[in-house]
Amino acid sequence: IDFEHCSLPEVLNHNLKKSGYEVPTPIQMQMIPVGLLGRDILASADTGSGKTAAFLLPVIMRALFESKTPSALILTPTRELAIQIERQAKELMSGLPRMKTVLLVGGLPLPPQLYRLQQHVKVIIATPGRLLDIIKQSSVELCGVKIVVVDETILVSATIPTSIEQLASQLLHNPVRIIT
Ligand code: AMP
Repeated sequence: IDFEHCSLPEVLNHNLKKSGYEVPTPIQMQMIPVGLLGRDILASADTGSGKTAAFLLPVIMRALFESKTPSALILTPTRELAIQIERQAKELMSGLPRMKTVLLVGGLPLPPQLYRLQQHVKVIIATPGRLLDIIKQSSVELCGVKIVVVDETILVSATIPTSIEQLASQLLHNPVRIIT
């Protein structure tokens, strides 16, 4: 199986090739089709597995729908990870119209982030503290968010620990489990 089987738009297939993604990694093979169907997913995969693109492709496909407010929210623990995710997102979204991203992360000035947020962004990539600050100021419209990614990369484990299971049972509806 390869990316061509996922019925992605031509531009996305082109961007995948340009980034050197010829063959999907195991997590991508499992996650992308399920994510495109709109199912909830609980996945465990290490850094280097290609998990970022595995969640970005369903995020991008969802964000292609016309909307004035953000349609996807990606939460990640650190600013550095957020920046890496945005870089990959921009590579994959290149050439797709109206697909703006915003970084809402701590350690960087707030006003440019708030300004950017008003430019009809489709995908929010955030760290929890800064997102919470912005939510408290009522400066972000999350009602249109259709897909949420909680990227917990600190976790290096072959199994999913109880604390994550508990969180997942509150957040997810009948999730597909993907353990790589
Ligand atoms: P990640 O596990 O998401 O941090 O990705 C690890 C690295 O693998 C990143 O530099 C990606 O750009 C790269 N990558 C992700 N998917 C593929 C793929 N299918 N083929 C080649 N490289 C990939």
